[in-house]
Amino acid sequence: MLARPGLPRFDYVRAETADEVVRLLQERGEAARPFMGGTDLFVRMRDGVIHPQVVVDVKYLPGIRDVVYDAQAGLTVGAAVTMNEVARHPDVVAHYPLLAEAANSVASYQLRNRATLGGNLCNASPAADTAPATLVLEGRIVLYGPDGEREVPATEFFLGPGKTARGPAEIVTAIRYPLPPKGAAGRYLKLGRNKVGDLSIVGVAVFGFPDETAPSGYRFRIGLASVAPVPLRATAAEEILAEEPPGEETFVKAAEEAMNEASPIDDVRASAAYRKAMVRALTLRGLRAVWEQLA
Ligand SMILES: Cc1cc2nc3c(=O)[nH]c(=O)nc-3n(C[C@H](O)[C@H](O)[C@H](O)COP(=O)(O)OP(=O)(O)OC[C@H]3O[C@@H](n4cnc5c(N)ncnc54)[C@H](O)[C@@H]3O)c2cc1C
Repeated sequence: MLARPGLPRFDYVRAETADEVVRLLQERGEAARPFMGGTDLFVRMRDGVIHPQVVVDVKYLPGIRDVVYDAQAGLTVGAAVTMNEVARHPDVVAHYPLLAEAANSVASYQLRNRATLGGNLCNASPAADTAPATLVLEGRIVLYGPDGEREVPATEFFLGPGKTARGPAEIVTAIRYPLPPKGAAGRYLKLGRNKVGDLSIVGVAVFGFPDETAPSGYRFRIGLASVAPVPLRATAAEEILAEEPPGEETFVKAAEEAMNEASPIDDVRASAAYRKAMVRALTLRGLRAVWEQLA
């Protein structure tokens, strides 16, 4: 007997235009699901969690696999760009190395050839590895729906496990990242049960840059994954770092605060108590690493 039931029957539609997808989603509602790499969708279908009758392949829509960098506007990554493409794209590596590092931390090389940046964010797992980087880089999610295009800041996109600000007939077409501030540095630190192929127990993105308007002369942004119902910014810790002189004492205090901002659960991967301790440890490690680059 099979341990898992296998995939149910479904219809496959390869969409040619975004309007065609919107129309299908309007007509079929819950019975239709967009997908790109399918590395989340088909697992959930196989496990009987969701039962779409139609899966709509949106990765062939015009422009959805493009990466465009502009020295004024910043970076636009099409939703269907794969993790390996993000991690290796010369403009991402040169100007957004934190995003490249986060994309490269997802699962294994094989999976990264299928898994997309947009799929990772749309799936809205608290453990999504590209979410903390997208939060601290102040990414904006580009949605297309019945009323045309709109943008939602990443900080407002995640509403709960598997829940986003995406409307029922909307699709995500791209993620836009503004130009990083001058002299910025970032690190993504991921703790999993093994080095490849596992979801994070804790993921911490630290991003810092000089800023004369901050009393400390620097601003840091901290993004956390796997330690709350949604990926989140540790804003109280960020406040401490903007106010107090950078260095070990402040970093220890901020890491402690980041730990207090986390509200993890016990699950098969780790206990809540361990996750909290790891938020403190990884935040401190991330701050030290970023500071080394800044100073
Ligand atoms: C073995 C394994 C290991 C994994 N390891 C990791 C890991 O280490 N880190 C990690 O973060 N994730 C991991 N994942 C999860 C998954 O691979 C990632 O979340 C991946 O980035 C999802 O992208 P996708 O293109 O495959 O998404 P899909 O499965 O195609 O879609 C994901 C969800 O988004 C919706 N969707 C897809 N495209 C759109 C769109 N354009 N607009 C609106 N909604 C859309 C789908 O309906 C679905 O609900 C793992 C998965 C597996 C199977």
